[in-house]
Amino acid sequence: LDFLAQTDPTVSGMMQKELGRQREHLELIASENFTSAAVMATQGSVLTNKYAEGLPGKRYYGGCEFIDQIEQLAIDRAKELFGAASANVQPHSGAQANFAVFLTLLNPGDKIMGMDLSHGGHLTHGSPVNVSGKWFEAVHYGVSQETEQLDYDHILELARKERPKLIICGYSAYPRIINFEKFRAIADEVGAYLLADIAHIAGLVASGHHPNPVPHCDVVTTTTHKTLRGPRGGLILTRDPELGKKFNKSVFPGTQGGPLEHVVAGKAVAFGEALTPEFKAYSGQVIANAQAMAKQLQSRGLKVVSGGTENHLLLVDLRSVGLTGKQADQLVSGINITANKNTVPFDPESPFVTSGLRLGSPAMTTRGLETEDFAEIANIIADRLQNPEDEAMKQQCKQRVATLCERFPLYPHLSIPVPA
Ligand code: PLP
Repeated sequence: LDFLAQTDPTVSGMMQKELGRQREHLELIASENFTSAAVMATQGSVLTNKYAEGLPGKRYYGGCEFIDQIEQLAIDRAKELFGAASANVQPHSGAQANFAVFLTLLNPGDKIMGMDLSHGGHLTHGSPVNVSGKWFEAVHYGVSQETEQLDYDHILELARKERPKLIICGYSAYPRIINFEKFRAIADEVGAYLLADIAHIAGLVASGHHPNPVPHCDVVTTTTHKTLRGPRGGLILTRDPELGKKFNKSVFPGTQGGPLEHVVAGKAVAFGEALTPEFKAYSGQVIANAQAMAKQLQSRGLKVVSGGTENHLLLVDLRSVGLTGKQADQLVSGINITANKNTVPFDPESPFVTSGLRLGSPAMTTRGLETEDFAEIANIIADRLQNPEDEAMKQQCKQRVATLCERFPLYPHLSIPVPA
């Protein structure tokens, strides 16, 4: 990184500031995490120089003998981690993984059924602003108004009425366990393919803290950078080797060009890490921490959607404190807590305002925080949200955030030289 400071002090200076920001803020964005230094080492490596269109052993370029070993290792580790028959480690992102699956299983105009974005679904599950909603006919299920959880009878009823070709489960803001067996039964009843997009919960699945969809679904997609704690990227898994071959073709040449082999190497490292007992313990702590945060927020009078959490995230319904998501987002950012406003099920506010705040535990659990620290985070948030006009309270909350950040240093050995 000394090279960078010399060659491009502008970028180096910006990176230094970003490192400072990450160190000095409580990172509660549910989809973010801090990779290991080993994963980061792959990202800024010679592997970024190599073209390797194709698959290990079947490349369109020469010089791939070592790249082949790396990508094969990533594939083998992914298969072992999730019990899959086939894995494609090349998708550049979660969205790209989903797009490649759609190219394999669907034709333009086919019907897909996923969860409504405003109930916790993802843009790539049929939103009108995404290719999944523009090229396919999308219908959506939501959570029950009463329980704020999945209602499998309602989903079955909708599937019977709509007869989609593909059903998608797996979400961006759903705090409960997903019953993949029930989804399989629904898909079988209407003759649909079943895709589980486990972008958020992949680390919990890998460590056995959430049921594994691979045995029940035709295909499983994920990102590698959330609870799985790898580099930014996507992954496609399947129990069916023949379908796996089709997904491979849909990734390249179907929707992508050359794979990012420095990222693939990062995936191999992250999958190796995820196979360790330490990662299993980490994942268990992620859930315990999210639950501790939810419980403390509830005891302070803040409503938590669905009454709690069984995974790494929770949604605060801010109507319980008379705030919108936009206001709460600004209030917590002012005390160096990073989170995001989010719609709650049946939200009366627009997606730009919202009534919810999404909070996640993966990143701060990586920094070493435990349940009592997450209870303190919940208290800081409650103190700030319940006293929005109190400047002294704001300063006190900011100080408590700083104390936590100092107690749990991030990348203590990493330094990005400050440009002269
Ligand atoms: N699928 C789900 C459920 C997600 O939550 C996300 C990202 O938040 C994605 C897909 C897309 O991943 P990416 O941002 O890597 O394209």
